[in-house]
Amino acid sequence: MSTKETLSFQTETKRLLDLMIHSIYTHKEIFLRELISNASDAIDKLKFKSLTETDLIPSDYKFKIEIIPNKENNTITIKDSGIGMTRDEVINNIGTIAKSGSKAFVEELNKATETNDIDIIGQFGVGFYSAFMVADKVTLITKSPYSDIAIKWESTGDGSFTLEEVEKDSIGTEIILHLRTDNEEKEEKYSIYLEEWKIKELVKKYSDYVRYPIQMDVTKE
Ligand code: ADP
Ligand code: MG
Repeated sequence: MSTKETLSFQTETKRLLDLMIHSIYTHKEIFLRELISNASDAIDKLKFKSLTETDLIPSDYKFKIEIIPNKENNTITIKDSGIGMTRDEVINNIGTIAKSGSKAFVEELNKATETNDIDIIGQFGVGFYSAFMVADKVTLITKSPYSDIAIKWESTGDGSFTLEEVEKDSIGTEIILHLRTDNEEKEEKYSIYLEEWKIKELVKKYSDYVRYPIQMDVTKE
């Protein structure tokens, strides 16, 4: 596979995305918690594997999570040096909701949006999709130590996603959120997630327990 492929989300996934994007008006900020938690899980997995597969990573390998806001491009990137994903893993883990909880989640989400209980997103294992609450396009670039090729997954959350082979030297995953545009009328300010103080606040509030260093790269203006 060297060209760009377009694949469709499962009906269930599409429904879930629609709900996430259109029904949740509060607590959108938890997207950062979900992505950091996935990054931390991915590092856990690589760390664990490297105990038995001793040549998987060098001995001075840095397990870390980076948050990179970019005001010029209106993007926030969450990057980890974790296990990454092969092409098949991307399709199975990101492209589809094959998990048993998804149907129940959609039902619960309907209920929860009425009562404002948004914590079910993490509990139901659909955390990745919370990115679409703040982003109108999500780009994921990932490299597994078990694959020679890196994969770029991209979606605007509207029913399909693309897959493409790309260059990436290091193991791990990079998730680039192209933030939605602020809607002053609806008082939805997405550009707030590019602010250093806001990111620090959210990391402290939700991700204080994470065992790996979380670094923020700030572009000087
Ligand atoms: P959960 O974390 O509960 O499994 P998510 O929707 O948050 O559900 O993530 C779905 C799956 O996608 C994860 O289980 C994992 O296999 C994969 N994934 C997500 N983010 C990453 C990442 N940063 N690195 C590697 N795999 C990831
Ligand atoms: Mg998760």
